[in-house]
Amino acid sequence: MNNDITCIICPLGCKIHIEEENNDFTFSGNICSKGEKYSILEIKNPIRIVTTTVFVDNDNHRLLPVRSKKGIHKDLVLKCIVELSKIKVKTPIKCGDIIYENILGTGVNIIASRDSSNI
Ligand code: SF4
Repeated sequence: MNNDITCIICPLGCKIHIEEENNDFTFSGNICSKGEKYSILEIKNPIRIVTTTVFVDNDNHRLLPVRSKKGIHKDLVLKCIVELSKIKVKTPIKCGDIIYENILGTGVNIIASRDSSNI
């Protein structure tokens, strides 16, 4: 297996080429070893923090920013956003409050990124 990944750990954004044979990885293009750890994670379990907004108090013009408390597999990010587009939350809400528990059975909660008084 050959793979090319851009490391996003630091602003240098090294373009890393990975070759794998019998679960043995070789890397080129990375300046430091953090790029190797990041690349293996990206290959085996790529996760992303989901950020989006949800409707507030049945008002389609008021949106609360929310995010996942932990990373979610990147293949589920769009499904999470679609699921969150269906909900409406009631105020008041504090930054860090849980908005949606265990989204899509991932075990990850969605939390408010801001107080509702600031939207
Ligand atoms: S490999 Fe190291 S230097 Fe390159 S982008 Fe990743 S963290 Fe930065």
